[in-house]
Amino acid sequence: MATRTHKHTDTHAFPKPGHNHDRCTADALKKAAAVCAQRKTRLTDIRREVLELVWKSHVPVGAYDILSQLNSGGGRTAPMAVYRALEFLLENGLVHRLASLNAFIGCAHIGKDHHAAQFLICRVCETAAELDSAPLTRALTQAVAERGFTIDSQIVEISGFCPHCSPPT
Ligand SMILES: [Zn+2]
Ligand SMILES: [Zn+2]
Ligand SMILES: [Zn+2]
Repeated sequence: MATRTHKHTDTHAFPKPGHNHDRCTADALKKAAAVCAQRKTRLTDIRREVLELVWKSHVPVGAYDILSQLNSGGGRTAPMAVYRALEFLLENGLVHRLASLNAFIGCAHIGKDHHAAQFLICRVCETAAELDSAPLTRALTQAVAERGFTIDSQIVEISGFCPHCSPPT
């Protein structure tokens, strides 16, 4: 019998297609509410609705898509209201913005103070998984500091293929 090397894979990072996503969303909303309460700020209806739409899946979503989904039932939410809500969610670490896609993704580590995040973005299913690697963040921060650079915000975006999708052969 061949022994298989035990590979440490964080299966949580890339949830299986068909997993109980309602639980992911409920969990994120609960944590978001707790963060807002702690910061004495309010998760208003529009902020919560936008956060819920960002959490609709693990695929990053653009501001325009959020707006059209909000108004799909005949609503008249103004684009500015969505942008402001996203700004609030960004400032409070509830979502991250992925520049390469010009889209937003729910933070997988709400409540944890992190100005740095690394994302693995699947080119097939477009799922974006947040890495929470302290050694990686430390190494990057140090390498940058050695060049006399001060980091304002740091989002590293890595594109490739998730464990549920295979690279084209
Ligand atoms: Zn999920
Ligand atoms: Zn995060
Ligand atoms: Zn994938």
